[in-house]
Amino acid sequence: FRVCNEIQGIGALEVVHNGLLSKIIGVGDKPIIETLCESCGQCVAKCPTGALIAKEFKLPEKEVRTLCPYCGTGCGIYLGVVGEEVVGVRGDPENPVNKGSLCVKGRFGFEFINHSERLSSPLIRRNGKLSEASWDEALDLVARKLAEYKGEEVAVISSAKCTNEENYLAQKFARTVLGSNNVDHCARLCHASTVVGLAQSFGSGAMTNSINEIGNAACIFAIGTNTTADHPIIGLKVRKAVKSGAKLIVANPREIDLCRIAHLWLRHLPGTDVALLMGMMRVIVDEGLMDSSFITERCENFAAFKNALEPFDLDYVAQITGVPGEQVAKAARLYATNKPATILYSMGITQHTHGTDNVLAIANLALLTGSIGKPATGVNPLRGQNNVQGACDMGALPNFYPGYQRVDDPKAKEKFQAAWGYSLSPSHGLTLTEIFQAAYEGQIKALYLIGENPVLSDPDATHVKKALEKLELFVVQDIFLSETARLAHVVLPAASFAEKDGTFTNTERRVQRLRKAIEAIGDSKPDWWITCEIARRIGGKGFDFEHPSQIMEEVAKLTPSYGGIFYERLENAGLQWPCPNREHPGTPILHSERFLTSNGKGCFAPLVYKPPAEIPDDEYPLTLTTERSLYQYHTGTMTRKTNGLNTLRGKELIEMNPADAEALGIAEGEMVKVISRRGEVTAKAKITPISPPGVVCMSFHFAESPTNVLTNPAVDPIAKIPELKVCAVRIEKVLSKKSRKR
Ligand code: SF4
Repeated sequence: FRVCNEIQGIGALEVVHNGLLSKIIGVGDKPIIETLCESCGQCVAKCPTGALIAKEFKLPEKEVRTLCPYCGTGCGIYLGVVGEEVVGVRGDPENPVNKGSLCVKGRFGFEFINHSERLSSPLIRRNGKLSEASWDEALDLVARKLAEYKGEEVAVISSAKCTNEENYLAQKFARTVLGSNNVDHCARLCHASTVVGLAQSFGSGAMTNSINEIGNAACIFAIGTNTTADHPIIGLKVRKAVKSGAKLIVANPREIDLCRIAHLWLRHLPGTDVALLMGMMRVIVDEGLMDSSFITERCENFAAFKNALEPFDLDYVAQITGVPGEQVAKAARLYATNKPATILYSMGITQHTHGTDNVLAIANLALLTGSIGKPATGVNPLRGQNNVQGACDMGALPNFYPGYQRVDDPKAKEKFQAAWGYSLSPSHGLTLTEIFQAAYEGQIKALYLIGENPVLSDPDATHVKKALEKLELFVVQDIFLSETARLAHVVLPAASFAEKDGTFTNTERRVQRLRKAIEAIGDSKPDWWITCEIARRIGGKGFDFEHPSQIMEEVAKLTPSYGGIFYERLENAGLQWPCPNREHPGTPILHSERFLTSNGKGCFAPLVYKPPAEIPDDEYPLTLTTERSLYQYHTGTMTRKTNGLNTLRGKELIEMNPADAEALGIAEGEMVKVISRRGEVTAKAKITPISPPGVVCMSFHFAESPTNVLTNPAVDPIAKIPELKVCAVRIEKVLSKKSRKR
């Protein structure tokens, strides 16, 4: 009871009666599944008497300290092992991020590791069918075929689920052996606008502060993040701060869980964040609530920014956002006067055709109030996948070498040429979305894709599938035969996170050790080993590694921010970059003294409001936005292998407001057709006021209802991130065979 209320801050349980008659029940005496319970399992883990126990509990023979493979929070876990089977997970109490707590996915979502559908041998397509092959046969084929293509004809898609070392090798392989900067990964779909926007404002595209500081904030502004569902352990810190008296402002079109404890909830229309933020900043300036000395001493371009605020009076802002002016003003005052104030944001901000502007607006707000560079302040983008921060840091991007060193910077190019012994291209490569378009148009002929499932995760998925079908050579490396792997010419079976060593970098820039707990399943191999083998068979130099620690030593030599990161230094709490040398203790807070821009100043950005690329009209009158469920992860490849998670959320739902449902004559639980300009899917209707009128919401976890068939591939012109958060749709009833005959 106390764990649920005081540690997890959920409050699903209550105590009734006194003394010997006292009893712990679900709040309101409801079955636990009908309470606020998030199935995090913390009550089971902490039960002092052993009265509560996980359903499928097995006593482990040994435990291995490692990391959760799901979200970017980067929680430490112990994997419980019997023989070569992972039988349980418990939180690592020494881990500085989660201190023993876990969410439902981290604690229970491990059944995929030993699942019978794991790929256990390489597959080669013969006569249209994938059939088993030996490693030598598959690797020789991939090497021989890949070597046939020129740099501009080939691309590599790396993975935010792979380790830093594997991402480093993937981009090195693309740039050296294949001679191509066409390398990218799914950060393009989640935080590309963060990388670009924060780099422009602060000189670094990463979370400025640390997760544990959130609990000490006096004000938390959570915009475009459903923190308790998507980063549940960070959600705990928010709850803790609110319990200790922090003011919480939530800006979200949907009534997310955090709204229950928010002091102020701004329900703005999807895609209107710039107007909302500029409106708040105009109030701060008009009422003299900015930090003038911080602006003078540490920032530049304030005058141009101030001029740009002019049109954003409260009437104009209310008209665009749908938020009453007095609420915008209240939010501005709350944020500017309760210090330290921190901003959390996620894909509600980034996945827009103006995602970079959204990020710049958030950075402006922090600069304006001087809420950056100090404890419990800052701008904190919450990264989605476990190693999306690390994949970016390692240069799995078309325009950056590791450590965000530009491929078009002659000095950086010279440095990497000397280190790698290859002549490198100074031109930017293609981004993820451009790679698929180029494949569709026939420019990209060969693709080596590691651990991604774009057939479900990328916008306008039907087009993506058609593009992949046009490839002359398509190699997929994965742990399961995903919807994407089924289209490949060669499938290479990879080891999961539990079967290899390496490092992940979490959302707060903390590099932590991943440790091997069991032998690789079947004949699968770690991704780093596979990439090295292909490279060597093409004749590549510099791929003779025997252990990931050797790869990290090369990373440290070439990447200033990782210069002091070595395995022996990561044994305990890990290290937060920048960590430039062996003596450096790591950096929990960025920009304390100066920004990482060339002149050390934070740069204000003047902004104008731009609407989403596709707004509702008569034909498509509703806005579709997308979300992630607490109980599933990404395209479901891993979490859908766990029965318990499927029980909690096993199907796609389209959430719609009661008013919209009534207008369309749709009943709770009815199957409906959702149609956009790009395609249609069916899903079960969930009628709920969580969705505002005119806005419907789906996840993208379920292959049976592939939401991204609907979404808009229009991209932000700078970050090239697609507008996954807004597209126009219409909903139709699914007519039964009987009613169709009538
Ligand atoms: Fe894993 Fe994220 Fe949950 Fe932590 S919060 S246990 S990292 S899914």
